[in-house]
Amino acid sequence: MPYSDTDPGKTAGAAVGAKDRPAPEPSNFIQAAIEKDIAAGVYGDRPICTRFPPEPNGYLHIGHAKSVCLNFGTAEKYGGRCNLRFDDTNPVKEDTEYVDSIEEDVRWLGFEWGESLFASDYFEKMYACAVELIKKGRAFVDDLSADEIREYRGTLTVPGRESPWRGRGVEENLRLFQEMRDGLYADGEKVLRAKIDMASPNINMRDPVIYRIAHAEHHNTGDRWRVYPMYDYAHPIEDAIEGVTHSICTLEFEDHRPLYDWVLAELEWPLPPRQIEFARLSLSNTVMSKRHLKALVDSGDVEGWDDPRMPTIAGIRRRGYTPEAIRDFCERIGVSKSNSTVDIALLEHCVREDLKPRVASRNVVEDPIRVVITNYPAGASEELEIENNKDDPSMGSRTVPFSGELYIDGADFMEFPEKKYFRLFPGNEVRLKGAYLLRCDEAVKGADGGILELRCSYDPATKSGSGETRKVRGTIHWVEARTAVSIRIRAYGLLMSEGEDGESALNPLSLSERRAWAEPLAADAKPGERFQFFRHGYYIADAKLCSAEAGGEKVFNEIVGLKSSWRQGAR
Ligand code: ATP
Ligand code: MG
Repeated sequence: MPYSDTDPGKTAGAAVGAKDRPAPEPSNFIQAAIEKDIAAGVYGDRPICTRFPPEPNGYLHIGHAKSVCLNFGTAEKYGGRCNLRFDDTNPVKEDTEYVDSIEEDVRWLGFEWGESLFASDYFEKMYACAVELIKKGRAFVDDLSADEIREYRGTLTVPGRESPWRGRGVEENLRLFQEMRDGLYADGEKVLRAKIDMASPNINMRDPVIYRIAHAEHHNTGDRWRVYPMYDYAHPIEDAIEGVTHSICTLEFEDHRPLYDWVLAELEWPLPPRQIEFARLSLSNTVMSKRHLKALVDSGDVEGWDDPRMPTIAGIRRRGYTPEAIRDFCERIGVSKSNSTVDIALLEHCVREDLKPRVASRNVVEDPIRVVITNYPAGASEELEIENNKDDPSMGSRTVPFSGELYIDGADFMEFPEKKYFRLFPGNEVRLKGAYLLRCDEAVKGADGGILELRCSYDPATKSGSGETRKVRGTIHWVEARTAVSIRIRAYGLLMSEGEDGESALNPLSLSERRAWAEPLAADAKPGERFQFFRHGYYIADAKLCSAEAGGEKVFNEIVGLKSSWRQGAR
C-alpha cells in the first residue's frame, strides 16, 4: 500500500501553486532551500506547505513564537499554507486546556489557519503504515525490556547488538502487533521496532522503537488505543498526510532526519516532505522548556502560566508586550544553523520601538514630594491640555488639572545637586511638563531632617504653548495633589538568576510592587490598556487585577523602562 493519498482535504484552500508565482527574495537559508525546490519543480503544482506542530503539554513560550513566525511567515511569503497541528501522540501529558491556550496564543501572534489538526486523528493511518512496514519485513515486535533495549543499543563508539526477536516472521509480527493493539499486553511488555541497522553510526537508526504500549486515556481518542506511535515515526507521516512540503524543525532533530526520510521512503510516499533544521531560540536568563515552566506553575512559585514574569506567550501578553514587537523580534534574530543565546535586551528594545509611537502618556510620580506654589492664587485651579504623544499629534491631548499644590517625583529633587543635575534644587528653575516654569525657593524639613515640602514660585507668563521662549535645562513631570489617584505598580526582574551554586534559580527579586500617584485619568484605564508613564517607561493596566470585579486601586505592570533611565544617579 504505497501511500499516494496525501489527503486532499488537508491541502484545499486558497493557496496558489508554488511554480506559478514569481520568486520573492529569500531572506534566510530555509527560504533559499525552498526556492531551490520551487525552481526545480520538486513539488509540481502543490503549494508550499509548512506546519507548526506543538505538543499540547504546556503553554507556548517565546521560543515557540520563533517557530510560529518562521512557519507561518514562510508559508505566507510563498503563497502557501501553514497548518496548526497538535502533536498529541503521547496520551499521558496532554490536555485540552493546552490546546485552547495554544490556539489563542497563535491567533494573538497574528496568524490564521484553517481547522486545527490533530496527529491523533491519523492514528488509524499510522497503524496501517506500521502493518505495511511489518509486511515488508521492515518492522518487528520485540520482547526486550526498555532497559535491555537501551543496553543493546550500544554507544557512539560501540555498535549495537541485534535483538534476539529481530528474526520473527511476518505472520507472527502481524499477530503480535494486533494483540498489542487489542490490549493483550501490559505497558512495556512489547514494542514495535523498525528493522534498520544496529551497526549504524547514527544511533537513531539502530532499530528505533516505533510503537509502544500505553494503557492510558488520551485527550482526543479516549481509551480507543492501547498502542501509541513514537515521535520519530509519527512525525514524517503526519507531515506527509497533510501535504507538508517543508518540515521546519529545531536543530536537535538533525540526527533524526535519516529516520524521517527512511520512514517515508519505506512507505514509498511520493513527493515526501523535506525536513530542514534551524537553531532554537535561547534567551538570556530565561527558562524555555515547557517542562521547567510547568514545574514553576505546579510549585506555586509563579501565579500561573500567565504570570507576567513567565516567558510564555500568555505571560508576556499580560506583561504588556505586543504581538507586533514579538514578530519584529523574531524577524531581527533571523534563523541560523548555530545555537546561540539572544540578549533579552533586544526583545525589550523591540517592545519599546513598537509602543513609543502609539501609546498615550500619563503623569505618574513615585516617592512623591509635595510642592506648594506660594504665588499661585489660593484655592484656585485650572485645566491644562497636555499632548498624548509628542511623536504623533494625531493622538490629540488630554485635560490635566493643575493648582498650587502638586506632587513631583522624588527623583526630581536634590537638596545638594550633583554636577549636571538640571532638575529641581533650591534656587533652580525647571519646566513643569505641559504647565509653567517653576522655581524652588525653599525646602522645608521636618524634625528628622526629611523633606516635608518644597516652597516654590511659578511664572504665570510661561504657560506651555503660550509662545514664551525662556529656556531652562530641566523638564519634570508632576501631578495635582488633590486630584491625584494612587495606583500600584508591579515591576518585574529576570525570572531566573544564577544561584550560589552557579545553577539558575528563581530570582527572589523577580516581582516587586510599589505605590505611585497618577493624574486622575489613570483611574479610568481599561484592563489591557497601555501607557507611557512620562519619563518612567511603558505600563499596562493588568488584565486580571484591573477588571471591573477587582475594583479599587488600578494595578499596572511595568512592561519595559525607557531606554535612558533618568532615575539613575538621582538623590
Ligand atoms: P519544550 O522543550 O519547551 O517543550 P518542544 O520543542 O518540546 O519545546 P513542541 O511543542 O514540541 O515543544 O514545539 C513545537 C515547535 O516549536 C517545534 O517545532 C519546536 O521545534 C519549536 N520550538 C520549541 N522551542 C523552540 C525554541 N526555543 N526556539 C525555536 N523553536 C522552538
Ligand atoms: Mg516536546
